[in-house]
Amino acid sequence: MASVSFVPRVALITGAAKGIGRAIALRLADEGLDVGVNDVASNAERLSEVVEEIQARGRQASSVIADVSEESQVKDMIEAVVEKLGRLDAMIANAGIPSKGSLIETSVEHWDNVMKVNGRGTMLCYKYAAMQMIKQGNGGRIIGASSMIGIRGAQRLAPYCASKFAIRGLTQSLALELMEHNITVNAYAPGLILTDMTANPLDAAFGGAHGATLKALLNVPLDSPEAGPDVVASIVAYLVKPEAYFVTGQTLSVDGGLLPR
Ligand code: NAD
Repeated sequence: MASVSFVPRVALITGAAKGIGRAIALRLADEGLDVGVNDVASNAERLSEVVEEIQARGRQASSVIADVSEESQVKDMIEAVVEKLGRLDAMIANAGIPSKGSLIETSVEHWDNVMKVNGRGTMLCYKYAAMQMIKQGNGGRIIGASSMIGIRGAQRLAPYCASKFAIRGLTQSLALELMEHNITVNAYAPGLILTDMTANPLDAAFGGAHGATLKALLNVPLDSPEAGPDVVASIVAYLVKPEAYFVTGQTLSVDGGLLPR
């Protein structure tokens, strides 16, 4: 079992140009880690801004443009971060995309794309981060992005839901495989976090502000709990800490109590 003596120094966060990924990157910088950040090319400018924000906190930063669903790009991304920041202690596989429409409306192409980014992308980040941490030989932290909709079903979100269930299975399985290497593997399961992903052009039509469409799909009232990305960053900051060595294989809900409703 991992011990408290392992002190993470370098983290890599995917999908970090905005939303939850950006909040995690800044929070880990505040916690004293050097931080690698990743996103796709279309978000390069916003990613550079995150790099500046990390550096303004007195930490080293490295940005890597890569599509997490492409194996060679994930491999190169991890190598680039290790080359720039010296090692990799915490991998936060945060990048993800939503799905849209009922299952009957879902094309094979849409299904494959959601699975490719959310499922394969997380698997590749887990795999290559694990290889690097095993090589370093002193433990590590691997953390994925599941969802409240990775624990319960949701109408008109089936591909997304299936991909987020998959991340829980991946997380439990890898946690078992990596125990002997003192590497913990966990995931977060946010409820409704106010980011671009949860804003919908139909929100106004559903009688509310940001998140109203999603609340309608989840059959929960408009005044149900919601929060900014910092509530997720806070859980990740804990999971990365040395004292979290005894938490592994878990998917932690961060949803203000939305799930049990
Ligand atoms: P967001 O859309 O604001 O940010 C996601 C980021 O991931 C974007 O910057 C995007 O460019 C990047 N990304 C997408 N595909 C990528 C790829 N192939 N390679 C690299 N980067 C890629 O979303 P968010 O709300 O910040 O969500 C972050 C994670 O948390 C996602 O995995 C999401 O599914 C999960 N999540 C979010 C919520 C929520 O309420 N916002 C709830 C549950 C789970």
